[in-house]
Formats: sequence, C-alpha cells, structure tokens
Amino acid sequence: MLVTFDDGLRTHADVAAPILEKYGFCGWFMVPADFVSTPAREQHQWARDHHIRFSTEGLAGPRIALDENDLRALISRGHVVGCHTSTHRRLSAGLDAATLAEEIPGARIELEDLLGADVGVFTWVGGEEESYSAEAARVIRETGFEFAFMTNSAPIVASTDPMKLQRSNIEADFPIELTRLVLSGFYDWLYRAKRERVDRLTSPAPDSV
Ligand SMILES: [Zn+2]
Repeated sequence: MLVTFDDGLRTHADVAAPILEKYGFCGWFMVPADFVSTPAREQHQWARDHHIRFSTEGLAGPRIALDENDLRALISRGHVVGCHTSTHRRLSAGLDAATLAEEIPGARIELEDLLGADVGVFTWVGGEEESYSAEAARVIRETGFEFAFMTNSAPIVASTDPMKLQRSNIEADFPIELTRLVLSGFYDWLYRAKRERVDRLTSPAPDSV
C-alpha cells in the first residue's frame, strides 16, 4: 500500500512522517512548488487563495508549508517528494500552453532546484472529473515523470499504467467509519464509470504513441 499526502503542509513532516516511520511506511508527499517558496507570513492567505485546507494546531509561528529543510529531511529518511503543480491548479481542459508549462515542467524544475534531487512523481490537483484534461496528460507524459497519481479509487496492480496510479481520498476530518468505507472497495465500484471516462480522456492519442 502507498500512503500519499497532498498539498505540502508542514504537519506532514511534523505529525504524519513520524507516525509513518513508527509503523514502517514510506510516505509520498506531493508539493505545490510555489507554496513552499511563499514567505511564511503569506502562507495562510496563499493556501486560502489556492484551495488548500490547513490546520495550525500545534504549530509554532506562521509557517504552514513544508520548507526546504523539511523536504530534504523527508527524502533523507526514505520518503518520496512529488510535484503537485506550481500553484495547486486544477489542470482542466482549456488551459493555454504557457500555463501548462508553468504548472507541470516548471513546477518540476522549481522543486528539483530546491531539493537538488530528481523529482519523478506528479500528482493531479482536485480529483473531480473536470480537473483532468487530455492536454495536461500529454504534457505530464512529455515531462518525463516516472509516476503520476490520480484520485479515482482503484487498486494498483502489475498492469496499471504508471502514469495513472489511482488513489482513494481520505480527508483529515473523516471519521474512522468513513475511512474504512473508502478503503473497503465500495468506492472503487462507485467511481468505476468516472474512472473509465478519465482513463479515456488522459490516454495518449493512438497516433501519438
Ligand atoms: Zn491538492
């Protein structure tokens, strides 16, 4: 099982990573590049403006995003840092080429410069059906990521396309009963039709393979 955390929150290093380590899990942390580089005193507003939910519980000071030291420490302890666009933007149809370049290869370069390490993982933002598009899927493939995560609830098996690794979404405030239901397989069935539509939308065109 892979355990992934989206949005680059400081609590992922302070709270989640030690728990993962206690139980022997590797964490996969998906980071919007611009959030990390936003000055600490501006991060609350940045998060609100870019649809990131956060908690300040237990945090000293205004910083709510992971910083360079957190990210380097996570990697050194065996966790994975992935790219979650630059500005936490949903990559819906109709975005122009410059925006896609900023949000996909641009975000990767920004994170790699910060970390001094290769960033081979990308994660789509949002998860609603309209947050996927054929154009963005093409740019993600062309950027050369090794893996890309979506959120359409399905197990990862040997034949899974590494650019379409599905996840089941669990929010921090879900009661344990709902968490169990999400992980029971019921949501895999519930999302099947959407998953198939997104799969067709984001597959390479037959003549471009
Ligand atoms: Zn996100």
